[in-house]
Amino acid sequence: MGYNINEKGYYGEFGGAYIPEMLYPNIEELQLNYLQIMAEPSFKAEFDQLLKDYVGRPSPLYFAKRLSKKYNTKIYLKREDLNHTGAHKINNTIGQILMAQRLGKTRIIAETGAGQHGVATATVCALMNMKCIIYMGEIDIARQAPNVARMKMLGAEVRPALSGSRTLKDATNEAIRDWINNPVDTHYIIGSVVGPHPYPDMVARFQAVISEEIQWQLKNKEGTTKPNYVIACVGGGSNAAGAFYHYLEDINVNLIAVEAAGKGINSGKSAATSVLGREGIIHGSKTLLMQTNDGQITEPYSISAGLDYPGVGPMHAHLYTSGRAEFISITDDEAMTAGLELSQLEGIIPAIETSHSLAIFNHKQFKTDDIIVINLSGRGDKDLQNYIDYFKI
Ligand SMILES: *Cc1c(COP(=O)(O)O)cnc(C)c1O
Repeated sequence: MGYNINEKGYYGEFGGAYIPEMLYPNIEELQLNYLQIMAEPSFKAEFDQLLKDYVGRPSPLYFAKRLSKKYNTKIYLKREDLNHTGAHKINNTIGQILMAQRLGKTRIIAETGAGQHGVATATVCALMNMKCIIYMGEIDIARQAPNVARMKMLGAEVRPALSGSRTLKDATNEAIRDWINNPVDTHYIIGSVVGPHPYPDMVARFQAVISEEIQWQLKNKEGTTKPNYVIACVGGGSNAAGAFYHYLEDINVNLIAVEAAGKGINSGKSAATSVLGREGIIHGSKTLLMQTNDGQITEPYSISAGLDYPGVGPMHAHLYTSGRAEFISITDDEAMTAGLELSQLEGIIPAIETSHSLAIFNHKQFKTDDIIVINLSGRGDKDLQNYIDYFKI
């Protein structure tokens, strides 16, 4: 059985492109061209160059000595937090802006919840001199003021979504409406491995640079390309998809996806999508999502804005149902404690999203000689106020 996408755009039974007819031309243009464009030597060369000189890749694979000692196992941290703009999201937006250029687009739209993807998109639009419109729920605009300011500073226009709950899914609706009205000159940059085919696959391929680097970095340090475990947090699933990518078919490498349990799986305030979700359609793909019995999408909750998503990408839905990856849910409290611990053991303040994956060590016992790679998806600067309020530092 394969764990990667098939030629029809499905991971097992998940994926596909469930979109309004008016979007067919936009999606078809991407479906027909994305693999070919990504395979062009000039595309690869420009992508690699920007990842190196602009993003700062390769990101280090750091052996966390004190953390390893504490948990009596070998822990490596893949330092995506050191990328320009502070997380893995820039890998994808660089790839997609180059894709948009090759398709002759001059205008970029995106939606954002916490604002991290909006900032990564506004950044590459400034870099490439593209018009940039970011849709964001009115409530999120109020909650995420620093990121809104960043986007504006970078030259983007931030348009509030005023309908519904005025959060991420309403911003998504606005972005889709915009795209339907501007099919010729506009590219829609989706920020995770979600959305209609080919987005999940395209985003996974752009993020796959993470596991590509882990392979040779680990070879240099441990003499093997294969860790025993790769661990990553999952919101939509892009940093995990990138960290897992080159290990998907290698079942000797255990994959662990960490979701946000919020205040607890059964508390009604959670974002543990795989565990709590049922099959449904969100954002144009068939996947697992949290919904009521009559199919209304349930509001997710997590202390980390980046994991606060009601669905999970189709790759992860398949990794979950097939059992290829182990899914673990971590509460707000466990994540915050793990974030403080990493700060004080290693001098690295992680994003709260990432702190969820670091809490794994209180859930699972590893062997002394296990090699564990944790994808450190982002830095915690954006979350400082949250940490400070939580710990009353
Ligand atoms: C956005 C974000 C996530 C969650 O998104 P994925 O697509 O699941 O990777 C995780 N960590 C950080 C730091 C983020 O900014």
